[in-house]
Amino acid sequence: MGDCFQVIVDLDVSEADAPRLAGRLIERLVAGGVVLAERNDSMALGGHPAGPDWHRAVADDWDWQPSDGLAVHTGRGVFHSGADVPEHAVCPRCGARTPLDAEGWARVSAAISAWSETGTADLPCPACAAPTPLPDWAWDDAPFAFGHLGLRFWNWPDLTEEFRAHLADLLDGHRTAYLWGKL
Ligand SMILES: [Zn+2]
Repeated sequence: MGDCFQVIVDLDVSEADAPRLAGRLIERLVAGGVVLAERNDSMALGGHPAGPDWHRAVADDWDWQPSDGLAVHTGRGVFHSGADVPEHAVCPRCGARTPLDAEGWARVSAAISAWSETGTADLPCPACAAPTPLPDWAWDDAPFAFGHLGLRFWNWPDLTEEFRAHLADLLDGHRTAYLWGKL
């Protein structure tokens, strides 16, 4: 049981630009045969169904077609791997690892709430005291990603590094995060 997903999150696109960028990216993926233009929301996990050349996106030792599609999320998104949460937050400036015990988690969850409400939040580092934007933090094990555009492939074989790089190109070369998980 359970559905697997892979998510590519654009870490740089603004909230205002996300719908336009998402629309252009889907047009390119449709032109490349990776997905179909028409959303199919009668699938259990709605989205754009796999197109005739879906296999271009995945490692080549698969012969089953993905049964579910590509769901596009725009707007403030908090992406994570499902049931698991990371054990440490890793400061992008000094590299200190903050354990997500009760106290650490309280600060992170406050920052996540602020990000969800406003689209921006800082998380200060206890080690170097630098306030760093929440989306810039790294996480161990089960990472988070915060962004305004997420591409969630439901029940697809592993996306290749080449395809992920292609997606980043289509996202104007923005920084991206790649998460996978199960619900
Ligand atoms: Zn630090």
